[in-house]
Amino acid sequence: MSDIETLKKELPPFQIFDLIPQYAAQGAIDPERIDLLKWAGVYPQRPQEDGFLMMRVKVPTAEFSSDTLRGIAGIAEDYGRGLLDVTDRQAFQFHWLTIGNIPAIFDRLEAIGLHTKGACGDTVRAVIASPLAGLDAREVIDVRPIAASMEGSLSGNPDFQDLPRKFKISITAVPELEGIHMINDIGFLAHRVNGEVGFDVWVGGGLGAVAHLAKRLGVFIRPEEVVEVGRAIAGAYRDHGYRANRKKSRLKFLIKDLGVEKFREIVETEYLGRTLQDGPAAPVARFGGNDVLGVNPQADGLNYVVVATTVGRINPDKARALAALAERYGQGTLRTTAFQNMVIPHVKSEDVAALSAELAALDLAPKTTLRGTTIACTGTQFCRLALTETKARTAGLVDQIEAKFSGLDVPVTINLTGCSNACTRYQVADLGFMGANKTDPDGTVHEVYNVHLAGSIGQAQRTGTKLRGAVPAERLTEYTDAVLSDFQAHKQPAESFVE
Ligand code: SF4
Repeated sequence: MSDIETLKKELPPFQIFDLIPQYAAQGAIDPERIDLLKWAGVYPQRPQEDGFLMMRVKVPTAEFSSDTLRGIAGIAEDYGRGLLDVTDRQAFQFHWLTIGNIPAIFDRLEAIGLHTKGACGDTVRAVIASPLAGLDAREVIDVRPIAASMEGSLSGNPDFQDLPRKFKISITAVPELEGIHMINDIGFLAHRVNGEVGFDVWVGGGLGAVAHLAKRLGVFIRPEEVVEVGRAIAGAYRDHGYRANRKKSRLKFLIKDLGVEKFREIVETEYLGRTLQDGPAAPVARFGGNDVLGVNPQADGLNYVVVATTVGRINPDKARALAALAERYGQGTLRTTAFQNMVIPHVKSEDVAALSAELAALDLAPKTTLRGTTIACTGTQFCRLALTETKARTAGLVDQIEAKFSGLDVPVTINLTGCSNACTRYQVADLGFMGANKTDPDGTVHEVYNVHLAGSIGQAQRTGTKLRGAVPAERLTEYTDAVLSDFQAHKQPAESFVE
């Protein structure tokens, strides 16, 4: 067993919450147990010897109030040096925390209805709920109650605190791709079959160094079955998943070996005790439809307005300004998206122009050529595994070339990571950049990016083509500019990068 497997057997991971007050009082964390802090959403930031921590905060159903956002801003300001990130799994992330601060931060999170239990670690992570749930006219069912039930039933549940590796679930009922269903361990996609609303279920998606797009389980399940089926699949993974090698422990490896038919049989016979109804595939949209950018109509005649951040990074002042805008122009609620963006729903048509102008003044305009569709992971600034800098470099790239491509009639996705772990999914972007190091014969280390082109979790459903060679970090903007210039010059109207 790997060390973490031994650790998980010695102390049930969620019991780390009981030890945190003691660590906080001492001002020191037991080094033997530091990896278990992940189950509390906390882990050391780079460089580890400095003792600072980062924290990921779950946002159940992706929906929160303006007051909650003000609370988040206050925590970032009081404990996190004013740094605040929106992640690509709809969470908030703080940096620069100390162990002594953690209990007070937990108290403040609880007061605004948020928590960190299961935000990281080998357990059921935050359940992605489409940020368009309850808004978009095309949805067949509002998935928020189901997502809340799934979150309450599985994430943070001691039954699932010792999974072989992390386990990700996504639930959506809009044919857009905000649910990123193909790269979750389970993706539930609602659709209507013969007039009945149910879910198509995809399993075994996951990226990392070896990318697997999810496969259909081949079933059609009713809304009231979703949580039960989620529990059954997570249970099957817990009991049958691989634990010897953490690089080969995600559900995708089990499904690759067993085949999806055999895995379904295990779920049905050992965990559900019944056979699931067969069903067809749910339709999925082209990637980058009206989900990720701009102003879009709601079913009730109001509008939802995307808040396009630059690589997910905001700050307390911007967060408070957004909270005020959501109250002035919406109904005091916001959503986080899987594209490091946010959404302000319930905006009257006559207020859209004024809100858009106020967002633009904050560098958060709803519709931008590249900003809203570009994501970058934590990188060397804070991540212990990173090989390259990510956020500042990607933000600089967008700043430099976005205006040149303002005439593009389709969104272009740029996903950049600081290592092969693919936290920001470089394999499924139009332009995917994976950070790596190249060492000269004299020992000088250079940051470079491997290039993956034309990956898609939309209708194309493929991982990007990996090019030979790598782009030096200092030429990344020039390279991106050249690729997009060529695309812009030769594309047909409305033709996407993948096409
Ligand atoms: Fe860190 Fe690598 Fe994940 Fe980026 S992709 S956050 S560098 S582990």
